[in-house]
Amino acid sequence: MLKELSRSEFLEIASSPQPKTECSKCSSLVCSGWETVPGSFDLDCLKPIGTLRIEGAPERWEENHPNGTNIWSENAPISIEFHPYNRSDVYECKQCSRKYLRYTEYGGYYVDERIRALDPKLIT
Ligand SMILES: [Zn+2]
Repeated sequence: MLKELSRSEFLEIASSPQPKTECSKCSSLVCSGWETVPGSFDLDCLKPIGTLRIEGAPERWEENHPNGTNIWSENAPISIEFHPYNRSDVYECKQCSRKYLRYTEYGGYYVDERIRALDPKLIT
């Protein structure tokens, strides 16, 4: 069971210092926007540190794009009350402690693991 993060805890995690150097473990992800986790990527190098899902909260599928972005935009806002952030877990690279968001998209015939680097400047 992952720890449910409050907004302030999430902001604290997001604003913790991020490494400036390339990391041999996670630099292959390079995902300013949401991307499907590459099949070759070793997810074991990420450790979960919390979740933005709130147990028992009503499902919400709206997205928040006040500036004409879409879910794939690299500058799409990270609005934790909105989809898909309200279903995301927060991860950290075990090697460089870079932070990531992950959620699983369940389509009709597929399951898509998606990941996005956590950029504190985009949190609304
Ligand atoms: Zn890393």
